Amino acid sequence: MIEKKQFYIDGAWVDARQGTDHHVIDPSTEEPCAVISLGGAADTDAAVAAAKAALPGWMATPPEERIAALERIYAAYKTRAEDLAAAMSSEMGAPIDMAKSQQVGAGLGHLKNFIRAAKDFAWEAPLGEHAPNDRIIHEAVGVCALITPWNWPMNQITLKVGAALVAGNTMVLKPSEESPLDAMIFAEIVDAADIPKGVFNLVNGDGAGVGSQLSAHADVDMVSFTGSTRAGKLISKAAADTLKRVHLELGGKGANLIFADADEKAVKRGVLHMMNNTGQSCNAPSRMMVEASRYDAAVEEAQAVAEKVTVGPASEEGRHIGPVVNATQWGKIQDLIQKGIDEGARLVAGGPGRPEGFNKGFYVRPTVFADVTNDMTIAREEIFGPVLSILKFETEEEAVAVANDTAYGLTNYVQSQDGARRARLARQLRSGMVEMNGESRGAGAPFGGMKASGNGREGGSWGIHDFVEVKSVSGWAAE
Ligand code: NAD
Repeated sequence: MIEKKQFYIDGAWVDARQGTDHHVIDPSTEEPCAVISLGGAADTDAAVAAAKAALPGWMATPPEERIAALERIYAAYKTRAEDLAAAMSSEMGAPIDMAKSQQVGAGLGHLKNFIRAAKDFAWEAPLGEHAPNDRIIHEAVGVCALITPWNWPMNQITLKVGAALVAGNTMVLKPSEESPLDAMIFAEIVDAADIPKGVFNLVNGDGAGVGSQLSAHADVDMVSFTGSTRAGKLISKAAADTLKRVHLELGGKGANLIFADADEKAVKRGVLHMMNNTGQSCNAPSRMMVEASRYDAAVEEAQAVAEKVTVGPASEEGRHIGPVVNATQWGKIQDLIQKGIDEGARLVAGGPGRPEGFNKGFYVRPTVFADVTNDMTIAREEIFGPVLSILKFETEEEAVAVANDTAYGLTNYVQSQDGARRARLARQLRSGMVEMNGESRGAGAPFGGMKASGNGREGGSWGIHDFVEVKSVSGWAAE
């Protein structure tokens, strides 16, 4: 079994000062695959102190040198792609092919986009021709605590570290205790990239320990958090006394509006998108809403597509979906599937229990419910598993009202050949992102939500903006 009990603090791997052993469980087998340390307050304090000491030097480093540092991380990341994929596969259950392409690939893409965005970023710029002696300076926020989840671990870590680092911040990363192994490889990547000591630090821990300590820490200037809405509220409260900046990327309950004129692949695309990463994506299109005239056909098609989705161990090659991350999530998903049945939704694929042939591992049957109404628990709560709800609508107005009738506001989806309708809906849907007709958003597009989905924007230049202070200066003299 892998033993990785050290933390990366001030440019070196160090023993935990107040560590408690923690087993990382492989969700495909339910067996431990590694032992790590969960740190305590002394570890948090040491990492924050290192970040604080490194801040003046890193802030004063010219943007070109910070960009060069990120380029070195990008190059080192590529050399560790296989290791990162293997780690994610064993600790959070992403099937190995998917881990290599999507999970590792997402991180690579974000680093590349930050390098490009940083080169074009107006780090210092005049206010305008009308005020020639005014200067707008974008500078680091300071010491940043980066708290990340397990579901797209490298995606989240690169979105935060890439932006924070290139903007001149120093940082302490606390990855999810479910997925610490890929994060520690990332720390090795940073180490190999020759970044000044103390700029990047990593401490493993849980939410109640290192997570809360970082959120309340007097020497932390900003917390950037991705995870559940539950933890986002606790972090906001813990951060309030020190008035630090809190950036939140939380859950979602995306609607996928399929109009009668949608292209013929729309339903299949929606089901497969829901099942990707075993349904563990904050932006999953979990409420498929279909116009009445296409509804029955869509339900039949969704059933057929879901029944063809195969489930298997994360170590196996292929296009199957893996297990969900842990016993708690498995149990929560089972409860919600049962609730769907009890509240009167029509089960058309999957259902409770493990898929046939499995008596171990946190495997869930790819599940589809039809005749869901928006007041049912499965339409309101984020399930975070391979469970799709299908709802029927009659009019565009009704579709928008139901789509917006949720606490969340991360991503909504629209499928229609009518461009004018798509533009109308893009404006009316209350979410940080609207994706239409299966077209992915472009490289460096901002990722983030509104309402209970949070307040931050990550990726590209918007991601950098979230990690800078804007300083307004008058009486500027040309240097
Ligand atoms: P989680 O909130 O339980 O944990 C996320 C991280 O926060 C972990 O590192 C955890 O240790 C830490 N944490 C937990 N409680 C804390 C506390 N009180 N104080 C400080 N830190 C704390 O979430 P999860 O189960 O790991 O991730 C799944 C959730 O993340 C889902 O709700 C999903 O929608 C959301 N998510 C959102 C986005 C986005 O960008 N909007 C992306 C991915 C995941």
